[in-house]
Amino acid sequence: MNIDAMREKNRQHWIHPVSSWLDQEHSNAKLLSSGKGAWLRDAEGNDILDGFSGLWCVNVGYGHESIVQAAAEQMRRLPYATGYFGYASEPAVKLAAALADIAPGNLNKVFFTLGGSDAVDTVIRFIKLYFNVTGKPDKKHFISLQRGYHGSSSTGSGLTALPAFHNGFDLPLPSQHHIPSYYPYRNSDAQSDDEIIALSVTQLKEKVSELGPENVAAFFCEPIQGSGGVIIPPVGWLAAMQRACKELGILFVVDEVITGFGRTGPMFACDAEGVSPDFMTVAKGLTAGYAPMGAVFIADHIYRAIADGLPSGELVGHGFTYSGHPVSAAIGLEVLRLYQEGGILENGRKVGEYFGNQLGKLIDHPLVGEVRSRGLLAGVELVTNKALKTKPDRSLKLGEKILAAGYQNGLIFRAFGDDIIGFAPPLCCTPAEIDQLIVKFTKSLNDVLTTKEIQNAI
Ligand code: PMP
Repeated sequence: MNIDAMREKNRQHWIHPVSSWLDQEHSNAKLLSSGKGAWLRDAEGNDILDGFSGLWCVNVGYGHESIVQAAAEQMRRLPYATGYFGYASEPAVKLAAALADIAPGNLNKVFFTLGGSDAVDTVIRFIKLYFNVTGKPDKKHFISLQRGYHGSSSTGSGLTALPAFHNGFDLPLPSQHHIPSYYPYRNSDAQSDDEIIALSVTQLKEKVSELGPENVAAFFCEPIQGSGGVIIPPVGWLAAMQRACKELGILFVVDEVITGFGRTGPMFACDAEGVSPDFMTVAKGLTAGYAPMGAVFIADHIYRAIADGLPSGELVGHGFTYSGHPVSAAIGLEVLRLYQEGGILENGRKVGEYFGNQLGKLIDHPLVGEVRSRGLLAGVELVTNKALKTKPDRSLKLGEKILAAGYQNGLIFRAFGDDIIGFAPPLCCTPAEIDQLIVKFTKSLNDVLTTKEIQNAI
């Protein structure tokens, strides 16, 4: 099919995830056709540096032949095996064991999902079951952070706290509540790291007290808010929130769908703070985007309480046809090998430091209010007045314009609204590729800065 025909079919038939349906009917899709390492090639033959690892998932980079082989071998031998009715396949068993091995603390049980949204939904269902089984059936309220993202399933998207995921969908549910994001750059009530952490703890305590601790089940958070705009809490925030949850008698759930598998440096962001939550969700980097798969880690004490609390033989009615899919699991095993023995995690740590230093230099750019990063995850705040931290007026469509300039300059990244740019380059990047990313991004900022409209606005 030629490119124009493909774009036309796309306009006519494919409803894209999180898209404006109306705009989609008039859009020209950017058609991607192949990839190698940190680079993509589009249908017109342009080479583009992927500064976002697909959708923060292709951590090992594109075109790993060993992953293709692992998938092909598994497809040839056994393309599908259910986990229902006592059946199991070797890759799923091995992957569950390998994950338990690397997981923080006592997260030794793994439930496989197809991605992050159903991992979050699985946790919600298991928490309800846990409190029902342990005789606390009133504990049914859930708290998360404003600007948090926890997927777009029918229940989980209520814990997500971004307007587009609630508007028109009758969400959040009455049992879902949000406390403010710590958002250091725009936190008008707290300045120092200690104050920001203390404020979050106070806000959680106040919310639990308002709802009644006997009614609150859990607090959900990401170690770094991803889709909310790569908002990074002070070091110590995650551990402080875990301590607060313990004190309050509520469960602590960490959503590592983005931060898992080396994105911020350590294997899991929880590792950096010695945190071991009651539940942890992962997806994306688990298979590095080569096949769909997510997982829920369950702490031993939660698992035991459910297992022992149910009568022998009673089914836990939760599962998917593709839970523990053997091809995805075989891919996951090879991806884990690449992270560890293949040195990709180590490379990501080293290059992450270089990336943070180089990107940080953009703070001198007239449109940049803040550059923040941890490992290979970064956010850039766009402003039209640095001293006043002025958000760009929506009519300027600054984020959208910089994104478009980026693609023209051969670089993919992401814009969150009009005022934040996000980066998540593959962990396999070289320092030379980081240099190219910086050059291309700087040029994109300058291309937009020099337009008359922006000159008038700054
Ligand atoms: N949780 C977090 C923190 C995420 O970033 C995402 C996806 N961006 C999800 C859950 C949902 O994952 P999926 O898109 O695989 O359903």
